[in-house]
Amino acid sequence: MFDIAIIGAGPGGYTAADEAARRGKSVVLFERNLLGGTCLNRGCVPTKALLRSSKAYVEAINGNEYGIASSGVQLDFSAMHARKTKIVTSLRDGLTKLMKKDKVKLVEGEAQIVSANDASCTIVCGNMEYEARETVIATGSVPKSIPIPGIELPGVLTSDDILEGEGKDLSSLIIIGGGVIGVECAEIYTALGRQVTILEAMERILPPFDKEIAQRINMHLKKSNVKIETAARVAEITQQDDILCVRYCNKKGDEQQICARGVLIATGRTAETTGLFANNIHAKLERGALVCDDDGRSSLPHVWAIGDVRAGTTQLAHVAMAQARNVIRVICHEEQLMNEQLIPSCVYTSPEVASIGITEAEAKERGLLIRTAKVVTGSNAKCLIEGGDSGYLKLIAAKDNGRILGAQLVCPRATDLIGELTVAIAQDMTAAQLAAVIHPHPTVNELIAEAALQLI
Ligand code: NAD
Repeated sequence: MFDIAIIGAGPGGYTAADEAARRGKSVVLFERNLLGGTCLNRGCVPTKALLRSSKAYVEAINGNEYGIASSGVQLDFSAMHARKTKIVTSLRDGLTKLMKKDKVKLVEGEAQIVSANDASCTIVCGNMEYEARETVIATGSVPKSIPIPGIELPGVLTSDDILEGEGKDLSSLIIIGGGVIGVECAEIYTALGRQVTILEAMERILPPFDKEIAQRINMHLKKSNVKIETAARVAEITQQDDILCVRYCNKKGDEQQICARGVLIATGRTAETTGLFANNIHAKLERGALVCDDDGRSSLPHVWAIGDVRAGTTQLAHVAMAQARNVIRVICHEEQLMNEQLIPSCVYTSPEVASIGITEAEAKERGLLIRTAKVVTGSNAKCLIEGGDSGYLKLIAAKDNGRILGAQLVCPRATDLIGELTVAIAQDMTAAQLAAVIHPHPTVNELIAEAALQLI
C-alpha cells in the first residue's frame, strides 16, 4: 500500500510527488507518456525555446538595428528543433534524477482507478494493481477540437503536432484561435518568414487580457505580417490538392475563404479524464473536468485533483504546481502554502506581455475607486537598449490607501517583472512602499518604480 498515488507526471504531478516524498510519504507516480507532461514536452518549454530561436533569427536579419551588418542569414528549422529537444531532454533528465532521489516509484503506462472507498483506492496500470491511501489526479488536458467538417484532414494540426516538429516545412499557416497558443505560434511562424493568418471568434485576440494589451499585440503581429480576422465564424476546412482552405464568415457577415499549407487548431484545451475511471466509478465531472472543493477534494473519497483536470482551474503550469503544493499539505494535515487567487498570466511575444490582479476596466465594472499610472518603454534606458516594439507598464492602485491592485505590462522581460508585482499585491503593498525600494539602473524594473512614484 502506498501513502500517495499520483496519476500524471506533468508540473502538477511531479511537484506533488516531490512535496509528498519530502514529507516521508511513499509515492507511486503513473505516467503514460513522458515525465514533465504537456508543459515540458509539448507546451510551455518547447514553445519558448522555439520563440527564442525565432527571435534570434529576426535579430540576426535586422542586425543593422544594433550596428551589425549581416548577410546570408540562414534559417535551419531542424536545428531549432534540435536545440528545443536538447533543452527539454536536459530538464526531463533532471526530473528523472529528482524522482529517483525522492524514491518515487515511477510507473510507465495508462492508469485507471478501479475502486475508491473510505480506506484506499485501487489503481490498475498494465497488468499490475496498486493500492494507495490517497490518490491525486493530475492528468492535465488535451487540445480541444471544434465540430466543423474537415477537422480530421491531414495537415490540420494541434500545438502538440507543431511542437513535435510537424509543420516545419509549411510556407503558410492558418491558425484558428487567437488565444495564447495561437498568438505565440503566429509569432514563431511569422518570424521565420511564413505567411500566417489568425481567425479568432471573439472581437479581439487574447480575449481574457486587457483590451489595450490585445490591441498592442494585434498591432505588433500585423506589423510582423500576420493577417488577423476577429469575430470570424469558421465553418469548414476543405482540401484542394496539397492546400487546405478554411471557409468562414467575417465580421460583416460575408462568407470568405482563405487557403494555406497547414491549419493549426488553437481553440483551447479540455480536461483529460478519458478512461481514467472504471465503469463502476462515478466521479462528479463538469465538461469532463473533476469537480472539487477549495482544497482539491473530488467527489470520491481520498481522491484529489490538481491542474488542468480540475474544474474551474486556470489552465497554467504554475497554477497546477501551486495546487500540488496545497493538496499535499492538506493531505498531510498542514496549512496551505500557496495563494491560488493571485495568478500571473504571461504571453511570450516580443515584446512580452504579463498581467496580474485587476485591470482598469474590471475596476470600473466593480465600482472600485482607483488611480492608474502608465510608463512607456521609450522613457526607460534598458528598454531602448533592448530594442524592439514600444510598450508600456500600467499600475493600478486603490485611490484611498494606494494599495497595488493590478498591473499590465507589454515590454521586454515583462514575464520576469510580473513576479515583483505579484509579490507586491500578495503582500498588500502600497505604491509608496514599492517606490521606496531602490531599483537598479539601468533595468526594465525601473518601469515599476517609475509608475509607483507617479501614484504617490
Ligand atoms: P485559449 O483559451 O487561450 O484561446 C483559445 C482561443 O480560441 C480563444 O481566443 C477563443 O475565443 C478562440 N476560439 C475558440 N473557438 C474558436 C473557433 N471555433 N474559431 C475561432 N476561434 C475560436 O486557449 P489556447 O491558446 O489553445 O491555450 C490553451 C491553454 O494553454 C490555455 O489555458 C492557455 O492559458 C495555456 N497556455 C498558456 C501559455 C502561456 O502561459 N504563455 C502558452 C500556451 C498555452
